[in-house]
Amino acid sequence: MLLEQIIIYGTVILFCLAIVMIYLRKLKQASEVVEAKIEKAKEEGLHEPVSLHPVIDLSTCIQSGACIEACPEKDIIGILNGGGVLINASSCVGHGACFHACPVEAISLVIGTEKRGVDLPHVSENYETNVPGIYIAGELGGMGLIKNSVEQGSAAVENMVKLGFKKDDSTLDLLIVGAGPAGIAASLTAKKYKLNFVTLEQDTLGGTVFTFPRSKIVMTAPMDLPLYGKVKLYDTSKGELLDLWNKALSKNNINIQEKTKVEAIERKNGHFKVTTQKGVEYKTKQVLLAIGRRGSPRKLGVAGAK
Ligand SMILES: Cc1cc2nc3c(=O)[nH]c(=O)nc-3n(C[C@H](O)[C@H](O)[C@H](O)COP(=O)(O)OP(=O)(O)OC[C@H]3O[C@@H](n4cnc5c(N)ncnc54)[C@H](O)[C@@H]3O)c2cc1C
Repeated sequence: MLLEQIIIYGTVILFCLAIVMIYLRKLKQASEVVEAKIEKAKEEGLHEPVSLHPVIDLSTCIQSGACIEACPEKDIIGILNGGGVLINASSCVGHGACFHACPVEAISLVIGTEKRGVDLPHVSENYETNVPGIYIAGELGGMGLIKNSVEQGSAAVENMVKLGFKKDDSTLDLLIVGAGPAGIAASLTAKKYKLNFVTLEQDTLGGTVFTFPRSKIVMTAPMDLPLYGKVKLYDTSKGELLDLWNKALSKNNINIQEKTKVEAIERKNGHFKVTTQKGVEYKTKQVLLAIGRRGSPRKLGVAGAK
């Protein structure tokens, strides 16, 4: 009887050990594949992120793999020795799908790395810079994604209103530079508070979103668009987003001045003088920079160039 029991227990233990060994071997093999991919990415110069990319907190990561499944690009993230790692980080285009998919919030989206530092402007919790009256919202401040930019654009203007400023009939209350998601949300919020404002856009309404390929799946999360309401979008398209923004702006009679690049902002006595490339000057009490991080891309000047 005793011998029988020993044999049964022994078999069960051996069976369990075998399962654990197989599992560990599989993990090791999977890690080796990821390791090889990282080496290849390093050789090809694709390992180091160039812009927005995920950073994984290994103390929180539970290797669910949800980030890898959610990412529409290939091999940006992998699992190595029990934790998430970046593989072809330079191919990350900032969809933010990994960030939304992670069940334990182990992912944050970051611009710049230890090796490739990016200078980020210092802004207060109100989005005001060290130049009183100049605010920053959206990707320029270091946080990417459409939803974040929309929220920051609204919050920056809400804060300006809360902090209060002296109205002056001879100047604008606010000049918004850039009409990407942050500038659009800021314009709607400025309208909500009946501010005397203008929005200048060097290119075309929509910002970086306007430059997305037509067929790209745009991943986002529900957000509040001022004077419009809750926008419940997850996987959408550039066309749907642009239609929605155009609808919200035209419903509220907001006219964004496109093809108008801001060239200079100077502090004058109690206001700012903003000069456009065309030489037009504006006097404004406050400025919101919602210019993203793409700069002013040079164009080919041929039909179809965006
Ligand atoms: C390829 C790609 C794919 C992406 N996919 C997604 C996605 O699926 N989901 C997601 O949430 N995010 C995505 N992102 C990130 C998202 O597009 C940005 O985070 C977001 O557009 C930032 O909004 P913003 O308003 O801060 O800046 P932008 O959208 O960059 O807008 C800034 C605007 O300011 C204007 N501007 C700049 N300088 C001046 C000037 N001197 N005078 C006047 N105007 C000026 C620019 O022309 C531009 O229109 C993606 C980004 C890229 C590059």
